[in-house]
Amino acid sequence: MNRRVVPIIDQRLPPGPGDELLRAASGELFDTRGRVLRDLRISVTDRCNFRCQYCMPRAVFDSNYKFLPHAELLNFDEITRLARLFVEHGTEKIRLTGGEPLLRKNIEVLVGDLAALKTTAGRNLPVTLTTNGSLLKKKAAALKAAGLARITVSLDALDEAIFKRMNDADYSVADVLAGLKAATEAGFSPIKVNMVVQRGVNDSQIEPMARFFRGTPHVLRFIEYMDVGESNHWQLGQVVPTREVISRIQAIAQIAPCHANYSGEVAKRWRYLDSKGEIGFITSVTQPFCGDCTRARLSTDGKLYTCLFASQGRDLRAQLRSGASDLALSSAIRGVWEARTDRYSEARSDARPSPQKVEMSYIGG
Ligand code: SAM
Ligand code: SF4
Ligand code: SF4
Repeated sequence: MNRRVVPIIDQRLPPGPGDELLRAASGELFDTRGRVLRDLRISVTDRCNFRCQYCMPRAVFDSNYKFLPHAELLNFDEITRLARLFVEHGTEKIRLTGGEPLLRKNIEVLVGDLAALKTTAGRNLPVTLTTNGSLLKKKAAALKAAGLARITVSLDALDEAIFKRMNDADYSVADVLAGLKAATEAGFSPIKVNMVVQRGVNDSQIEPMARFFRGTPHVLRFIEYMDVGESNHWQLGQVVPTREVISRIQAIAQIAPCHANYSGEVAKRWRYLDSKGEIGFITSVTQPFCGDCTRARLSTDGKLYTCLFASQGRDLRAQLRSGASDLALSSAIRGVWEARTDRYSEARSDARPSPQKVEMSYIGG
């Protein structure tokens, strides 16, 4: 349900000279296609302890790879300040991601700072996080105590050999399941479980994963493999279309679509007809959803991107560190969103060469 953010300008007064300034500082933002800004994804680190072949293949992200030095990362105060400005522009949800967000030292402190923005916003403001789950056993209770609202855990296979081949860093399925268990015990429920499906790599795991999570409170989501970044050498033939995944699941259980929880929800929701829970499908390749895309992304070093497949972002960190006022930063956010034209996934089949895309670990998945 769309909710209007009331601008801080008093509409009963005649327009005055300060109105433009105030408008820059607050109020909902719409892009050139009428899409409102609703979600902010923040990449808190470009590093990861996994080397998933579809995201950070070891051949590229090896010991010579230049990750961002610590001084280039936005610090927690900078992140929180920018997040507050996004909230004043109508952002309703914040997701922490990366790279692996649990590698960022004291991440729970940032969660607490962002969760406290709820008070400034005067409304519910869920702070959520996506993780590979490997460090969740250690961190789940602290994240919950800090005010994290929801958690998404990625898991691409239950088969140990397949999972290890995919993460390419010797992590076991058991490590992730232990994280899921700890998160459940800490009070996160339901938990969304992300599985990227790649033909010939882990598509054999579709049915085992569906069986494993059926009847649990967790919601398994099958994600079509995407051509994010430049490192994974994506090919269309590696994508398993959602309609194929659905028909394979229908062969083992009765499922039916259900309504979206809210407008702009990324996953298409389906439920088991025997009340054994829900599953989801993220159809970014075969049924793009750019028309409903309400997400802005803040990279690890403070650049604002308006599409996962972008090649350039607006450098908010430079502004922050040169002493820009809230008003100036707020105007910059407004300017970027109002100029937004992105529809990469809808235009993918145009097969026009696109400029070098940024990596997902840097921009945030
Ligand atoms: N490291 C964390 C994790 O894996 O959950 C958070 C960052 S990761 C980039 C966020 C999500 O993006 C994960 O669920 C991951 O599987 C997904 N992802 C990464 N590369 C992808 C790709 N090429 N296509 C589709 N999903 C991808
Ligand atoms: Fe790391 Fe997540 Fe990318 Fe895998 S998908 S390499 S866990 S950032
Ligand atoms: Fe949004 Fe870009 Fe993905 Fe389209 S391709 S849904 S605009 S992030």
